[in-house]
Amino acid sequence: MSTQPLLWVPGAVTTNLRAIAMNTRKVYIETYGCQMNLADTELLIGILKPHGYEPTKTVDHADVILLNTCAIRERAEERVLKRLQELTYQKARHPGVRLGLTGCMAQHHRDLLLDKAPYLDLVLGPDAYRTLPALLAQEDKDEPLISVRLDRGETYADVTPVRGEGVRAWVTVMRGCDKFCTFCIVPYVRGRERSVPLATLLDQVRVLADQGYKEVVYLGQTVNAYRDGEHDFADLLSRTAAIDGIERIRFTSPHPSDMSEHVIEVMATCTKVAPYLHLPLQSGSNRVLERMERGYTLEHYVALVERLRAAVPGLALSTDIIVGFPGEDAADFQATHDVMATIRYDSAFMFKYSAREGTKAYKWNETLSEEEKVQRLQTIITLQERISAEINRQAIGQTTEVLVEGPAKRPQGWLSGKTRQFKTAVFPGGGAQLGDLVSVRVASTTAHTLIGEASV
Ligand code: SAM
Ligand code: SF4
Repeated sequence: MSTQPLLWVPGAVTTNLRAIAMNTRKVYIETYGCQMNLADTELLIGILKPHGYEPTKTVDHADVILLNTCAIRERAEERVLKRLQELTYQKARHPGVRLGLTGCMAQHHRDLLLDKAPYLDLVLGPDAYRTLPALLAQEDKDEPLISVRLDRGETYADVTPVRGEGVRAWVTVMRGCDKFCTFCIVPYVRGRERSVPLATLLDQVRVLADQGYKEVVYLGQTVNAYRDGEHDFADLLSRTAAIDGIERIRFTSPHPSDMSEHVIEVMATCTKVAPYLHLPLQSGSNRVLERMERGYTLEHYVALVERLRAAVPGLALSTDIIVGFPGEDAADFQATHDVMATIRYDSAFMFKYSAREGTKAYKWNETLSEEEKVQRLQTIITLQERISAEINRQAIGQTTEVLVEGPAKRPQGWLSGKTRQFKTAVFPGGGAQLGDLVSVRVASTTAHTLIGEASV
């Protein structure tokens, strides 16, 4: 995940790819939600490019406008509906413009969308991206074109995503999810679990290394459930580490139940695998974990954290927490608060429960008011901010390796990058270039950033 906001709010991220050709058709894509959606946007461009489409950053220049969407929480969907309405003016100004909705929300709400946004030209689910060029080649019709069939075999293994510039490449290694946690819409909108063949992934990463990418981030809804025949996720990590040019390997999101000893061993022994892990907990109460059907107990999770911390010195940990799940009482919430205080995550993405139609929990009465959920959320955000700031302060005076990503937002003239623990560091450059690994001495910190002194 990119920067580390403590409250993860799905936001519109415009692809930072440059439109170059003059005679091609231009596609503008806004991405909502998680890293997997950002990777899917790169995939969509990879599918469209051979058909004469180039990405543009400017909506005014677009022949095709796509919103690549998220269905995880209601708020994300509301934002998309609002944005769709705003974009109708583009269609009014340029009648030839095609407006489409892709991704999880398209899959989740195809019927509702046609009702609420009848001006849409295209509605495409996550397994239907290949149909996009053919649909765009059809004549503009009054009725939207819909393609939402889920396909158990679709991994897009043969499509080369068109990636943005930078030092980090996201690579989707598996799609879908078989876990069916009771709160989560993912298995319904992204379908069942399937993995990209190991050899294909290693070929892709070799090309990325040749292109100058220094870091790969493997993506999957339960990324450590990756499997190709005899090969598991640990094999993928260790084989990737053997590729010259790739300096760092990360992955997100592993599921605690799939965190095998083999993966821990590889994390402990492969120096290229970053000492950073995003390990979603969701709740500190066994009663809630059971109702969420997460497949682990708090004791299992805590033992896993202890094992990981013993095996990987300096491991940074982040997590996902949901507050206000149906039936979460004061003691359950206190348990979540207490375990966060005990584990002391480096950072956390914290969410209010959002009922998702189609999931098991959707049928259960919500037992907390919106105000109570907000209050609980605020309580753990305050706790986590304090812990993050305390952990970061411990780095003061230490020297840490930073992969340079580009100019810092502030102060002007400084550079920004990530440490091996995936913390943002800013420092006064000193001649370092994009992609360099530099040693930075930490002079001061905030809850989210390490502020360094020049030391190339
Ligand atoms: N697969 C990962 C796991 O379970 O370990 C998480 C992927 S999910 C796309 C990202 C996060 O969104 C979840 O960990 C959960 O905290 C949050 N989330 C999912 N469904 C939610 C819901 N209905 N309401 C609030 N948060 C939700
Ligand atoms: Fe959703 Fe659970 Fe699958 Fe994560 S593991 S994507 S929370 S169903």
